[in-house]
Amino acid sequence: MTSKIIPFFNYPVLYERQKKDLLPLIDEILSGGRYIMQKELENFESDLARYLGVKYALGVADGTMALILALKASNISPGDEVLVPSHTFVATAAAIAHVGATPVLVECDWSHLMDPSDLEHRITSKTKAIMPVQLNGRVAEMNEIKDVAERNGLIIIEDAAQALGAKFKGEFAGTFGVAGTFSFYPSKTLGGFGDGGAVVTNDSRIADSIRLLRDHGRHPSGEVMQWGFNSRLDNLQAGILGYKLKHYSKEIERRREIAALYHSSLDGLEALKLPPPPSDGDHFDIFQNYEIEANCRDELRAYLDVQGVKTIIQWGGKVIHQYPSLGLNKDLPMTELMSRRYMLLPMNTSLSNEDISYICEQILTFYRR
Ligand SMILES: *Cc1c(COP(=O)(O)O)cnc(C)c1O
Repeated sequence: MTSKIIPFFNYPVLYERQKKDLLPLIDEILSGGRYIMQKELENFESDLARYLGVKYALGVADGTMALILALKASNISPGDEVLVPSHTFVATAAAIAHVGATPVLVECDWSHLMDPSDLEHRITSKTKAIMPVQLNGRVAEMNEIKDVAERNGLIIIEDAAQALGAKFKGEFAGTFGVAGTFSFYPSKTLGGFGDGGAVVTNDSRIADSIRLLRDHGRHPSGEVMQWGFNSRLDNLQAGILGYKLKHYSKEIERRREIAALYHSSLDGLEALKLPPPPSDGDHFDIFQNYEIEANCRDELRAYLDVQGVKTIIQWGGKVIHQYPSLGLNKDLPMTELMSRRYMLLPMNTSLSNEDISYICEQILTFYRR
């Protein structure tokens, strides 16, 4: 019997590593009384924009509000339809519903991302936008998605909540359409100590609109220009995220190393379908998650649990068309099939190489029995 426990995520270990730098930073911000829209937010926004090579990055309350504000600023409104994959967090579709539009669900392909070949037949006279979700830290096949958008006069708004730093043909997730959104939820690759999000865009009208929308519709002069929200990124979180962004390339490098270790140990095991390896043609993946498909998935998870390896299924194991209360379209056989097979292996920078070997050994043992 082993006593090894590998938690799925380990916030305390990750905090401990950065505590020495973070506590003085937090103290400085609090001592200066800089709580709402102060220099830390401005600095983080310009650092994020520079990192992604975009003109504007706007910090907002969370990744869900980032989606709502991006849709609103792009004039998606009641009566419109937006194409979105069913394998996503319910927040993606909720944002579409909250601006009064209708989410129309599409299939995902073998890589678990929006299937470009499933878009065109779902387009109607009401369709206004495509919302690819750059899931698990990988970018969808954007060339094909952009072709469909151009042919049909649709805009693209990306949910890149899971893909900060991921690239396709050298271009960053979040920069392919009129706007892209990110989440800084604590377990995201760039995670804060609470909620946070951002919208990025090269369009000055969208940036201006989000600046108003996130702060009660107020112009910096104080004049209220329109109905708005209170959806600002806390200045304290912005300070923390700014610090973490400076160390972000190391974070990604380690995640890609872990993915390579998983790949080299588990590739060839017929019972599993692994995500593409870190070096995969036009794709540069950042591995927010390591999402595999597994034969006898539930038995595998139960076995790993006993061996101390904690796994999860993204969003509790349901794709969003499987929530009857939401009334979404259900004609998604590929996604349906996949939803019975997918699960996440531990993927975060608290894991050692020994941890990964141990996890892989347990998986190999399970399938050899
Ligand atoms: C995390 C996440 C969101 C929402 O972000 P919050 O910051 O939690 O509101 C949206 N879409 C996807 C795909 C996510 O993973």
